[in-house]
Amino acid sequence: MSFFSTRGGACVTASQAILYGLAPDGGLYVPAMFPLLPPNKLVTLADMTYQQRATAILKHYLEDFTIKEIDEAVAAAYNAEKFDDPAIAPLKRIDGNTHVLELFHGPTLAFKDMALQLLPHLTTLAARKNGENREVSILVATSGDTGKAALEGFKDVPGTSCTVFYPTDGVSDVQKLQMTTTGGSNTHVIALDGNFDDAQTGVKELFSSVTFGASVNVRGKLLSSANSINFGRLAPQIVYYFSAYADLVNQGAVKAGEPINFVVPTGNFGNILAAYYARSMGLPVNKLICASNRNNVLTDFFLTGVYDTRRQFFKTTSPSMDILISSNLERLLFECADRDGELISVWMKQLKESHSYCIGEQRREWLNAVFAAGYADDMQCADEIRTRFERDGYLMDTHTAVASHVLRQYREETGDETLTVIVSTASPYKFAADVLGAIQQRGEETRHMDAFMAAEMLERLSGVPVPAQVRELHTLPVRHTARCQQNGMAQAVLNAFDGK
Ligand SMILES: *Cc1c(COP(=O)(O)O)cnc(C)c1O
Repeated sequence: MSFFSTRGGACVTASQAILYGLAPDGGLYVPAMFPLLPPNKLVTLADMTYQQRATAILKHYLEDFTIKEIDEAVAAAYNAEKFDDPAIAPLKRIDGNTHVLELFHGPTLAFKDMALQLLPHLTTLAARKNGENREVSILVATSGDTGKAALEGFKDVPGTSCTVFYPTDGVSDVQKLQMTTTGGSNTHVIALDGNFDDAQTGVKELFSSVTFGASVNVRGKLLSSANSINFGRLAPQIVYYFSAYADLVNQGAVKAGEPINFVVPTGNFGNILAAYYARSMGLPVNKLICASNRNNVLTDFFLTGVYDTRRQFFKTTSPSMDILISSNLERLLFECADRDGELISVWMKQLKESHSYCIGEQRREWLNAVFAAGYADDMQCADEIRTRFERDGYLMDTHTAVASHVLRQYREETGDETLTVIVSTASPYKFAADVLGAIQQRGEETRHMDAFMAAEMLERLSGVPVPAQVRELHTLPVRHTARCQQNGMAQAVLNAFDGK
């Protein structure tokens, strides 16, 4: 399988796409085609473990990796040491036709682990395959969860390092502590004065800066990305959509071939794009429902066909979705525009220069045949957490609750009662204060409550045990204190590299 850039150029192997992250023309790597799995494959997958399902899906894309390499990488990523549930991504029924796919059983309690536990293994294999001797230096912008997941994934992996920028005031206390207490001799964490979009834009600029590239190169390092723009992040995410379906078949909830819906709490559009890729490979999907918080630029986009970032940026109780520029949407646009890289370049230029582009009515209709979209504000999100807890006995985090609320809206508006899987992206304990506030109906009071106290209270109330990762957190020393402005990002990375 070769990979092309969404902006028209490039033709690379899977290992190169993973190693280089972003195409030289600034576009994102996309597979030349989507391998179509035969319908009986859905039945075959049902009898497999998560690890076997992963290899069965990944091998179609990772063509320049051997099956043995994929198997070993998968075994190293998804195991009992890293995940606290043997199913890895367990599926739970919470009401008649609603299931939750729990993607938060990994080391950092958010769905980013699903990809970032595997990516370092793919990256080091990819480096070897391409005769690369330089250290693979991962550069990450995070809205909270990617940073820690990348740090945990790459921590002490030989031949790599991992540098993370997080927005100073844009992450929760737990998220911040998770990052700043990270161990490992090859990890760097830098606070950026700005929001997530500033961090992401800054990192993208570092990747395309010739002078910065040269400074990195003389230090014997090669820049690579662990953000969801890297295809190596996307591929592992395709797996759990198939896995969820296989589990539904096993549970007798659907017959193989029967379409289902997924509702996905969305920020950078990576998770839901993986669902779209799974659908393109033959997964029976009726609707993909894109759920946003008050930063609802995507909701408007699916409604109007206009992507417009000229709007207020809100800090919400679902911070990992506080994003106005959803990078991975570019990959969906590429399919929507019949893989016309020139058109994508035009739209992306318009986005950069005038902060908006319009895809036209026909293409909007094409998208709406598969996608639905909606959003929930913080109040609706809190109500949803309480309702799900009281009625269904299910404790969900703020991001998952956004999806759950949007599903409720969608069902009311459309009457579509197709079995739907809510994709759950974080443990409720990662956002314990807001979850507790929602359940006790006193959001404002608990917002600033100590996260650990909130976790303990939540445990007493719900009976769901506090994960060890949260319990231990306040006993760990803070190791990372670097901070910079947007125009100081390059220097901050070089300082980290030089051990300053
Ligand atoms: C990253 C993240 C999201 C958004 O996922 P995208 O792939 O960026 O759309 C949602 N919820 C949580 C908890 C996350 O960490």
